[in-house]
Amino acid sequence: MSEFDWIAWLKDKARQSGARDDVVLGIGDDAAICSVPPDMQLITCTDTLVAGVHFPEDTRATDIGYKALAVNLSDMAAMGAEPAWMNLALTLPEMDWDWLQGFSEGLLELAAEHGVSLIGGDTTRGPLTVTVTVQGFVPAGAALRRSGARVGDDVWVTGSLGDAAAALQQYTHGPMQSMKLRHRLDRPTPRVAAGLALRGLASAAIDISDGLAQDLGHILSNSGVGAELELGRLPVSASLLDFHKDDNARWALQLSGGDDYELCFTAAPAEAFAIEQAMAAAGVSASVIGHITAETGLRCLTPDGEHLALEQTGYRHFSETAHVH
Ligand code: ADP
Ligand code: MG
Repeated sequence: MSEFDWIAWLKDKARQSGARDDVVLGIGDDAAICSVPPDMQLITCTDTLVAGVHFPEDTRATDIGYKALAVNLSDMAAMGAEPAWMNLALTLPEMDWDWLQGFSEGLLELAAEHGVSLIGGDTTRGPLTVTVTVQGFVPAGAALRRSGARVGDDVWVTGSLGDAAAALQQYTHGPMQSMKLRHRLDRPTPRVAAGLALRGLASAAIDISDGLAQDLGHILSNSGVGAELELGRLPVSASLLDFHKDDNARWALQLSGGDDYELCFTAAPAEAFAIEQAMAAAGVSASVIGHITAETGLRCLTPDGEHLALEQTGYRHFSETAHVH
């Protein structure tokens, strides 16, 4: 199969899985043409997945496709943006038809779920690397940013934290793996509906890709504030509790593990009820885990009121240990 057969096949699949009226010209020319609705701002993000760094080498092709879009939709969610279009830059060692079919299935399944059209991309040869760019909209001025947190705001997170990091730990250290945790690593759920519902309610937002401590840290530094977290309030899944009964080990995963793709956001306490309603309508659980302080830096309190020292602060791409394999 040639590169051109693949592109023709993909073009067809993309059309079947979700054509949009605002795509004037999709796959097949030098670039795509799309119509941006009036009064909307265009939001653009890109994320790359590298084999062995962003997913274990044994990850199924369909899950790689799914995750490549999910991590981008998570960025859209964190901006309060409605996703519309995506580009796919794919670098792969060989034209493996089975792999490409599986990959496209996962990618286009999630795209269809969110009404996102594949409008173009690039296909090259090299070590497996997947780059997806997503574009979407917000009403002018309504995007959620990292810089709006105010002293006294509540700190919230959606869903639960630490599952993906626990799965990665299991993958790295031993044969025993929980399929539930592994699913959270391979198929993160982008909180798009939650992000849209938080427009006008949240003062700042970020998605948690590199661990809560590090990503909340970005909100804090961008907003010029600090935060105090209550570790006893970190939302935890039943599967994670099963595997990590020790509080300290679990908190470390929840604070410093990556790949959660939950939203962390801040909001005035007066908005708490409206946020609970909005999150319920979006079908997502959300928990208050602490509050914003004038004193800068991040402090974490155990249920006994003791301070936990934060040793690791999350994933860093250029650190010595930044590999999953
Ligand atoms: P060019 O040499 O002009 O860049 P290509 O042969 O790379 O053209 O691409 C032809 C068309 O196929 C373009 O419209 C491009 O957007 C699309 N395309 C190529 N690779 C992909 C891909 N991996 N996913 C989606 N569209 C792709
Ligand atoms: Mg090209």
